[in-house]
Amino acid sequence: MQVREALAQARSRGVDRLDAQWLLGHLLNQARPWLLAHDDAELPPAAGAAWPGLLARRAAGEPLAYVLGQTEFCGLTLQVSAAVLVPRPETEGLVDWAIECLAIAPAATVVDLGTGSGAIALAIRQRQPQAQVWATDNSAPALAVAQANAQRLGLLLHVAQGDWWHALSPRRFGLAVCNPPYIAEHDPHLRALGHEPLDALTPGGDGLAALRQIINGAPAHLLPGAWLLLEHGHDQAAAVRDMLLQAGFVAPQTRPDLAGLARCSGAHWPSAK
Ligand code: GLN
Repeated sequence: MQVREALAQARSRGVDRLDAQWLLGHLLNQARPWLLAHDDAELPPAAGAAWPGLLARRAAGEPLAYVLGQTEFCGLTLQVSAAVLVPRPETEGLVDWAIECLAIAPAATVVDLGTGSGAIALAIRQRQPQAQVWATDNSAPALAVAQANAQRLGLLLHVAQGDWWHALSPRRFGLAVCNPPYIAEHDPHLRALGHEPLDALTPGGDGLAALRQIINGAPAHLLPGAWLLLEHGHDQAAAVRDMLLQAGFVAPQTRPDLAGLARCSGAHWPSAK
């Protein structure tokens, strides 16, 4: 089978043209421009044999990142499996905010709660190598993915398994970040995300339970003057700022994502408390 025929096959299966180019490029270990310039190249037998299976997975709606086994986040190539959420571009804003916080305390101890693939923790460690970065997850298979990514990228990560702050007692941090499950139980968007781990997407109910647990548990695990930065749903910013204030945080702020939606809120833990 030639490259041209393989791409035509993808088209007939309803696979997006760009996705098909990514998949075939990955299979042949070639960049997309090579594919376009060599559309008469023959696929090696092993690639030809693997192609229909990859196409079938993508055609069935499996995220491209799972089919490829990897994705890009903050310029890092991360390996992903169905044990972890696929890192999203909107989460990169949380990393930018964390890096700003670390500008005044570069060697701070940082924790990424519910790290999944390790995306946030690893991006922070890569951009601020002086930070001592911890990463937790309730799921052992997810932590294994994060640890493997850390090793492959040569980034030091301390990992701990457990539910939110319970993984860390009695450690305290100068900066805590988290992209928790926040989709409401009956949100119609969940149906389109059926390939990703459900407990990474929704805590059930109105979607605020995990955020509430993290905010209420934070004071016992933060150092004076620490920051807590959280990703949340586009309509949850006011509720999150409210919970932060009620827990004793000061100066809550919300930032938009690239689409202009209120996506992250954060606040400062007072120095005097
Ligand atoms: N922290 C990981 C990410 O941002 C996983 C988040 C999650 O599973 N809710 O990609």
